[in-house]
Amino acid sequence: MTDLLIRNAIVVTSDSAGSVIHDGAVAVEGTRISAVGTAADLAPLAERARRVVDGTGHILMPGIINTHCHAADSLFRGLVEDLPLEPWLQTVWKAEAAILNPRTSHLGSVLGFAELLLSGVTSVMDMFWYPSETVRAARKVGLRVSTGGIFFDPAGVTALSIDERVAEAERFFEEFGSADDVFAAVMPHGTYTVGPENLKAAHAVSHKCGGIFCTHCAETKAEQADIVARYGRTVVRHLDHLGCLDARTVLAHCVHLDDEELDILAARGAHVAHNPMSNLKLASGFARVPEMLERGINVTLGTDGPISGNDLDMWMALRLAATIHKGHTGRAEIISTRQALDMLTINGAKALGAADRIGSLEKGKLADMVMVDLRRPHAVPMFDPLTHLVYSANKSDVRHVFLGGEQVVRDGTLTRLDIGETMDEVNALVPKIRASIA
Ligand SMILES: [Zn+2]
Repeated sequence: MTDLLIRNAIVVTSDSAGSVIHDGAVAVEGTRISAVGTAADLAPLAERARRVVDGTGHILMPGIINTHCHAADSLFRGLVEDLPLEPWLQTVWKAEAAILNPRTSHLGSVLGFAELLLSGVTSVMDMFWYPSETVRAARKVGLRVSTGGIFFDPAGVTALSIDERVAEAERFFEEFGSADDVFAAVMPHGTYTVGPENLKAAHAVSHKCGGIFCTHCAETKAEQADIVARYGRTVVRHLDHLGCLDARTVLAHCVHLDDEELDILAARGAHVAHNPMSNLKLASGFARVPEMLERGINVTLGTDGPISGNDLDMWMALRLAATIHKGHTGRAEIISTRQALDMLTINGAKALGAADRIGSLEKGKLADMVMVDLRRPHAVPMFDPLTHLVYSANKSDVRHVFLGGEQVVRDGTLTRLDIGETMDEVNALVPKIRASIA
């Protein structure tokens, strides 16, 4: 029985052939896609479908996958500006220590996830304190989340010992390891905040539990110099030496890598989360994305947190990823439209170890889908839907979003909750947040 049939849309599948179906249709049974084809092919299903949606004037595309985020930092949006990463982080951490607890982390996550879902993001990799609160927030809003135990040697917000952090990380796998909407991970913050033994302990948990190992990597030149001074190796070599790099590793940033480090990432099958907005705003530099792609490294896209953004806009990340490397290298052909779009969708699914479930519109996959409105001046004329998505479309064009077939955004509005209350609660916190860094 067909539960949902969306027809007469331009279906951008993000499958391995990059198929686009003009006047296409997608059928859903339960939470999964049961058929993809032309509207004519799937017409017989319409008669008995529980719900038929007319996609005329829309692109139907896979849900967007954001592979690097700290959504709850939405609470601190715009609080600290115009500093490079290191002094900027010190101030941010001061505010986090004063404000964050399970309740406020949850509140910030709900706000950030609402922003993401409204822009078409259906899966997000989110590194933050209190990972179970992160999952609760994602479920409240209606998206999938990859998160897990944080490792951080300074006290940070939660001030746990290493044994407690290991226990928390393991508990997370017990609770969420088999959930359909959670991609369980272990999240040591970085090589400059987590010592070698604790990085190994974090990796051991992810390895034992079959999860993702995600950390910040080589974001700035100063970080590289710091790690070389401490351990005699650059960040990637250090992580490799500790045995932390494999096909379940997701590294955020990777801005400052030499040729051999790129070769190491390619050989280990590690994934890179490219965050162009954050790298530009914090003056971190230009990641060598074209060389990564040349080597077959899986490059995905992230927003990073909304304090280095200052929003959570994957459409901006997409457009920057497709353009800045052209400008930086002087070669207009260096990243194709198709490569950029894959970074937004299927490559993210590969990084989450979930390419068999999400990342493209194909039979058998979860029905995570976005309808992009084309009845806009900036969408006319449209010679190529892929070019439109990469270079013209923006987050306000996202009209409907489906998660496993459930409509979680209708006409630009969340269906699971009234986000107005959350915004009021966050605004009530503003005086306290402002005072935290005074
Ligand atoms: Zn980050």
